[in-house]
Amino acid sequence: MRATTPEVTWTTAVPSLLGATALVVTSPQARTAAETAGMRLGTHRITNVAGASTADLSGVQQVVAVGGGAVTDAAKIVAFDAGLPLTVVPTVLSTDAPFSTVAAVRRGDVVTYVDTGAADQVQLCSQVLRHAPWVSHLYGLGDLLAIESATRDWRARLPDGISAVREAARALVTTALDQAALWREPSQPGCELLVELLRAKVALGLTAGHPWAEEGTEHYLAYLLEPLLPRPVWHGQLLLACLPVCAVLQDWDTRTVGSFRRFLSTLPGLAPAGVDLLPPPTLRTALARLPKYCRRHHLDNTLLDDAHLTNELLQHATDAWERGW
Ligand SMILES: [Zn+2]
Repeated sequence: MRATTPEVTWTTAVPSLLGATALVVTSPQARTAAETAGMRLGTHRITNVAGASTADLSGVQQVVAVGGGAVTDAAKIVAFDAGLPLTVVPTVLSTDAPFSTVAAVRRGDVVTYVDTGAADQVQLCSQVLRHAPWVSHLYGLGDLLAIESATRDWRARLPDGISAVREAARALVTTALDQAALWREPSQPGCELLVELLRAKVALGLTAGHPWAEEGTEHYLAYLLEPLLPRPVWHGQLLLACLPVCAVLQDWDTRTVGSFRRFLSTLPGLAPAGVDLLPPPTLRTALARLPKYCRRHHLDNTLLDDAHLTNELLQHATDAWERGW
């Protein structure tokens, strides 16, 4: 495992796991995608996320994650605990998990991060990736556009702090918003830019030594809402639904709101209105609890730490959730 971002290679050939015996962490859906693309996993030991921590590692020489964020995080923890090398073969680009040095773990009503180091290598293969619906790759943009909200929190919490990393992170959002045309339909350049932006975001977090450019109010709200959702949704999808709420709480200027709206309207289906995920009254009740939730779990990068949510603000934020982008 590495302290820096992993080595990333794009391959046209389907990744081969021949050689060292691997523990492959995957999901039924991801395994189908990988095997349909031509990966041969059958001779290796296979586990799902739930079984990863208790998998038999005798004779195993490497851990391989074949899947999305949850699979990758589970594989990172196994590889880290066992001191084994880790290769990640993403089947979807829906989060920054393949590129980060931590694994997200839900404990009770909060998500914490285990410092595992990054994967030794990430093998990206267009033949594998094309089996996922295009929109599920674009959910990775949710993790990227979260920078807009997180850096506003950062600026509010530490107005005099060093801002070079913060401004570099904000430039990634600008790049993403300028490149909508690249993501309108499935494309290799679209995948490559998304990977580069997510990697750059993670690298900036490592430079800063904290995740304040990467997560703030929008992530904390998403973590609070996750257990309340009637059905699971992608992490990035939930973040995109939370951002209009943050736009109200953080009082985004109309120009920024307009550019987000234009961008997301060109990528239909990417950002559902919150009402499609959770009824507005449930959101309002949860939102009223959010400042206390953040203080209780020491989630520091949010202007809610100092804020009092008036009924009027709660209503505006709930309306934004209902309306979406
Ligand atoms: Zn995230």
